[in-house]
Amino acid sequence: MSLACPVCGSQRSGEPFFELADVPVFCNQLEETGEAARAVPRGQIALVACDACGHVFNREFAPARLCYSPQYDNNLHVSAHFHSWARERAAELVQTYGLHGARAVEPGCGQGDFLELLLEAGMAEGYGFDPGYRPRRLPAGLQIEVGSPPLRLEPAADFLCCRHLLEHLAEPVDFLRRCQGLLRPQARAWLEVPSLEQGLEQGGYWDVLYEHVSWFSAASLGRLCERAGFGVLRSRRSFGGQFLALEAVLGLAGERLPEPPAAEGLAAFGMGWRARLQRWQGELAREPRTLLWGAGSKGVMFRCAVPGGLPMVVDINPRKQGCYLPGSGHRVVAPEALRRLQPSQILVLNAQYRAEIQAMLADLGVTARLQVVA
Ligand SMILES: [Zn+2]
Repeated sequence: MSLACPVCGSQRSGEPFFELADVPVFCNQLEETGEAARAVPRGQIALVACDACGHVFNREFAPARLCYSPQYDNNLHVSAHFHSWARERAAELVQTYGLHGARAVEPGCGQGDFLELLLEAGMAEGYGFDPGYRPRRLPAGLQIEVGSPPLRLEPAADFLCCRHLLEHLAEPVDFLRRCQGLLRPQARAWLEVPSLEQGLEQGGYWDVLYEHVSWFSAASLGRLCERAGFGVLRSRRSFGGQFLALEAVLGLAGERLPEPPAAEGLAAFGMGWRARLQRWQGELAREPRTLLWGAGSKGVMFRCAVPGGLPMVVDINPRKQGCYLPGSGHRVVAPEALRRLQPSQILVLNAQYRAEIQAMLADLGVTARLQVVA
């Protein structure tokens, strides 16, 4: 049976506008051997727009197939560029909402990097929860527990932070409603997800993952907030437009919501896929000494769809090096391996990291051409 709309619960949706068959269920869980990596569980993707509210989601998603564990690693903070971007956002939030000395709570906090930045920016306490948290020494004021948040937090938090979590949940409305128990009345919330609008404008095919049941627009994330009892203060795009960030307030009415993206935009996205695939398949056939940089989810999805090139992937995260990409089974190597591999071309899947990677290549004395995969 196909999934109901995660935002409004309607069972009615149009025909899929984009489909992918047999993709790895987990992109951010690497394997110890190439064989295990090629044998990972796979799932189907059929993106549809809800007839009732316009929300875009994968109707083939089966929540029971995803079980997050400490092997799951989607930490972006290993990149200095990402970390300094996140530090600026934390400082801005504390400033805008007068959160000096306040308490933050973050379900799905990963290793707690963002909470740590909020404390650095002036908040007094942070409470994080994540099934994949690996206990470590934490700064004063920060507490993180392995698992899900409790029903109540005493004293209640002033600020809810929810980053790159809602798109993974089949029932995000229930989840956000439960978060109310962690918060004081009129607490602020900051919700961040990948942006559907950006995906449609730029052909974000490598961002379509099985882990993401929802692909939120400003309209559908706003509707989710309202259904869960939060008023939307404002929404905006950040990190080069890739993220949609929505600021909300518990228990008060918010701004009027925008319209969801038009059906023509969704159809155009679906129709552009074949040409995009052929372009990169052709590029790798012409340049067999091409190497991919980035063992994150975009890299996994690109490698599943586009064979060819050198059979490894570079990543700066030491936890990923020596492991294998789910689906394609490519081995992850450290940047230092580039000296030996001497690729003619390096493909980067996220333009945001281009300058950081270019600087590392210069340090390594690698002269390969750098190209951003669009
Ligand atoms: Zn709906």
